[in-house]
Amino acid sequence: MPSDWTYAPAPEARDIVTLEERYGLFVGGRWVEPRSGETYTTISPATEEPIAEIAQAGKDDVDLAVGAARDAHENGWSAISPSERAKYLFRIARILQERSREFAVLESLNGGKPIRESRDVDLPLAAAHFFYYAGWADKLEYAFPNRRPQPVGVAGQIIPWNFPLLMLAWKIAPALAAGNTVVLKPAETTPLTALLFCDVVRQAELPPGVVNIVTGDGRTGAELVKHPGVDKIAFTGSTEVGKAIQRELAGTEKRLTLELGGKAANVIFDDAALDQAVEGIINGIYFNQGHVCCAGSRLLVQESIYEPLIGKLKRRLATLRVGDPLDKNTDVGAINSKAQLDRIKELVAAGEEEGAEIYQPPCRLPEKGYWFAPTVFTNVAQSYRIAQEEIFGPVLSTLTFRTPEEAVEKANNTAYGLSAGVWTEKGSRILWMAQRLRAGVVWANTYNRFDPASPFGGYRESGFGREGGLHGLEPYLEFE
Ligand code: NAP
Ligand code: MG
Repeated sequence: MPSDWTYAPAPEARDIVTLEERYGLFVGGRWVEPRSGETYTTISPATEEPIAEIAQAGKDDVDLAVGAARDAHENGWSAISPSERAKYLFRIARILQERSREFAVLESLNGGKPIRESRDVDLPLAAAHFFYYAGWADKLEYAFPNRRPQPVGVAGQIIPWNFPLLMLAWKIAPALAAGNTVVLKPAETTPLTALLFCDVVRQAELPPGVVNIVTGDGRTGAELVKHPGVDKIAFTGSTEVGKAIQRELAGTEKRLTLELGGKAANVIFDDAALDQAVEGIINGIYFNQGHVCCAGSRLLVQESIYEPLIGKLKRRLATLRVGDPLDKNTDVGAINSKAQLDRIKELVAAGEEEGAEIYQPPCRLPEKGYWFAPTVFTNVAQSYRIAQEEIFGPVLSTLTFRTPEEAVEKANNTAYGLSAGVWTEKGSRILWMAQRLRAGVVWANTYNRFDPASPFGGYRESGFGREGGLHGLEPYLEFE
């Protein structure tokens, strides 16, 4: 008989990933040294161990990459038959499936997310995105009848650190399907899966210059935004940087789509199936350590079920396993960076100071690395910073309501408008709510579900433009 019921460690083997000590930039189908001469070290946020040296691309590097993308666009890619383009995308999708374990391990190593999520969510969805857009590549004339769709040209794409490979797929798949070439900048803290993707590009024999990857911090992103040779900017990240990009591009011909932050309401009515709702709340805010733009970070609970629901939620919280991202039993991994951890701590301190009540289950956090225990705030007023600002961490703010009208009013009381959740037995109430919630996505009796066929994007300070579905092709096309 076992003497206790603690889990034995179940680490995923790391040796499936072969890392270089140092990476250059991927330009015109080959690795080049950064002309800037600058590099930085990327680490594992779970242990703070250094894992590789990464190039910090400067102005000249970005210029070289944009030039390579332009050449590739003009000398072949935009003119090859759409069914040929589709073939490359299908190949990329299949290679991602074949190498999914390798990518999942690397994603967890570099970003801190649990292997269970990178393996079961990030990788399958990234491959699905390429499959989905591969299917559209030779059907653009049918997708947009009588509008003569043409590629826009060279797309500059800038992505964040929370879903590194998945955001790359969301950006590159529709751009290539529509006949564009791309220069993509991954986030400073999570460049490695984008760099491994260059090997997939090579394996798929994609013509050189169709995909170019430039690494570096925000300065590299700013150079890409400014570059006159870029026809379209696609940005996913913070509202603050999104606004700066919009200012920079005002008055230019460049097209722009912005996928920014959120502060979603997850609304629980008194007729909802409470145990399922608790699972939805947990998935809504603790998935990927809450580093999710559409996270259900504001819980709105109908007053009559407040006590039992919070009781169930706290009990469930105590069962979450926080720790090694590469352990298959881990539910909550490491916070992506020291900077992000500091921001979470600052907002949590503000919540306590303003008068909210904090609950954290007993859990022992590793000593090295960046960690934050899953947290629930109760007694939160709408004016508190933790009810207004995006925390982007495993922190839930709970408010209550009495009537559906009040729920709508509170849910919409935010500058953002990316997503929302509704939990109720009543179909009519779901529709009533969905019509009134100002959010790009409304989930009903589920949360954080994604499908490449379904458009995703926000209103107001959450940005504009859609990714996924047919909507996701439009920003990459010009119509005659
Ligand atoms: P961020 O600072 O805005 O970074 C996003 C990307 O932009 C990174 O690659 C970043 O480089 C780059 N960047 C930074 N400054 C730039 C500039 N001046 N010009 C051009 N590019 C620049 O965002 P973050 O704080 O890392 O990520 C968290 C935020 O992203 C949250 O607010 C979250 O809601 C939002 N987000 C939104 C979505 C969505 O789909 N709507 C998805 C994920 C995240 P560095 O890596 O060096 O900073
Ligand atoms: Mg940043």
